[in-house]
Amino acid sequence: MDHRHIAGGGDHCDSESEIMEFLAVLGAGESGVGTAILGIQEGYKVFVSDFGGIQEKYKNVLEHFGINWEEHKHSEDILIQADLVMKSPGIPDTAPIVQKLSEKGIPVISEIEFAARYTDATIIGITGSNGKTTTTMLTYHLLKAGGLNVGMAGNIGDSFAKMVAEEDYDHYVLEISSFQLDGIESFRPHIAVITNITPDHLDRYEYRMQKYVESKFRITENQLATDFFIYDADDEEILNALPNIPVKAKMLPFSLTQSIREGAEIENENIKINTPHNSLEMSTDIVTLQGKHNLKNTMAGAMVANLMGIRDDVIRKSIANFQGAPHRLESVLKIHHVNYINDSKATNVNATYYALESMTNPTVWIVGGQDKGNDYTALMPLVREKVKAIVCLGLDNTKLKEAFGNVVEPFVETFAMSEAVKVAYKIAERGDTVLLSPACASFDIFKNYEDRGEQFKEAIKQL
Ligand code: ADP
Repeated sequence: MDHRHIAGGGDHCDSESEIMEFLAVLGAGESGVGTAILGIQEGYKVFVSDFGGIQEKYKNVLEHFGINWEEHKHSEDILIQADLVMKSPGIPDTAPIVQKLSEKGIPVISEIEFAARYTDATIIGITGSNGKTTTTMLTYHLLKAGGLNVGMAGNIGDSFAKMVAEEDYDHYVLEISSFQLDGIESFRPHIAVITNITPDHLDRYEYRMQKYVESKFRITENQLATDFFIYDADDEEILNALPNIPVKAKMLPFSLTQSIREGAEIENENIKINTPHNSLEMSTDIVTLQGKHNLKNTMAGAMVANLMGIRDDVIRKSIANFQGAPHRLESVLKIHHVNYINDSKATNVNATYYALESMTNPTVWIVGGQDKGNDYTALMPLVREKVKAIVCLGLDNTKLKEAFGNVVEPFVETFAMSEAVKVAYKIAERGDTVLLSPACASFDIFKNYEDRGEQFKEAIKQL
């Protein structure tokens, strides 16, 4: 069975559908199904089409709402009748069906664009190459602690569209990928954050960094002078791009090293925030999350909370008790005075850079996986300074061997998590740290980064 009652889409020209707009949804994952639910609620005739198989749980939801769907194909004859198409972020613009629809002049938008049209809530949009999830979770934590009626959505948990359909929040904190931004038209966050921009996902941008940067900056494109744009002023890609981008929003940069008049800076171990709302100071000691990158994430989140009117004491207290997300520099266990840290979410070189930078003890580094065109040069000084052994974990470790084979000794290749952890355990001595920070995608050996991190934790418990 590869399709179900698609008649709903096929009889698009009957009298009823003349007044009902036809929304086609490409991709039946979290954002696709959420869009379909919101579409039905907003009076669209909806048809969901997935070129792969649809998960049982999503089929059940679609059935529950009486939404027409098909799987393992895209029925062009139906889809080209759409008035509006929502494309899930996983589907590239180069997919033949997307090209066909664009040629026909049918608007193809993303889920955040669609959902934002049906809510008056204040939107805080957070994008960047790294730090999106951490900053989104922290910001949500601060706003919720401040008593706001706030929801968190996007790449985290439920889709934004589903939340707009089913909840009644006054504010949303959204984690937004560049793929979502590629499909916006009028999406306008009141507060936009770009945590940083480093090479990632370049395969979707014709291997052109500029295109990827432009895509991230689209988060500001519909902002007005009454909105805010928070960004990392230490980030070269952002700084290079800024002069060519007409940002109307009030700019609030954050920096670890520069003195910042309006925005956030560090002075004498204090985070100092100065926004049009008020100024706020707190010691960096209250930030429990490790690493300089987390000071940046904290500055961004605290600035949002400040702009949203959260009280200073609530911001300080909530930063101090924020736990962070699993698989991001997550402390797992201490065994025989050796610390085990899970940073499985470090799927690119920049994330691993910050992990290594935050290491204070000699480090046995478990690294590797599916290469994304990595250039390891930037890591070299940190590796020389902090890494006492490298345990490769990947099907193909050639690039790591070329980069570090002659730099670090011992250098061991492994092909399963249990093996990697055992080797690291043997090498590590009292006072050392064992760090899993792969700098690569996980798909060569694992289902995803969560699976990799869980297997790491399990292997440690088995030691
Ligand atoms: P994202 O959602 O953008 O992938 P996460 O918060 O999940 O970001 O973090 C992904 C990885 O990047 C983790 O290894 C984390 O330690 C690291 N990281 C978090 N924040 C930053 C940042 N501001 N700059 C660089 N790396 C970061």
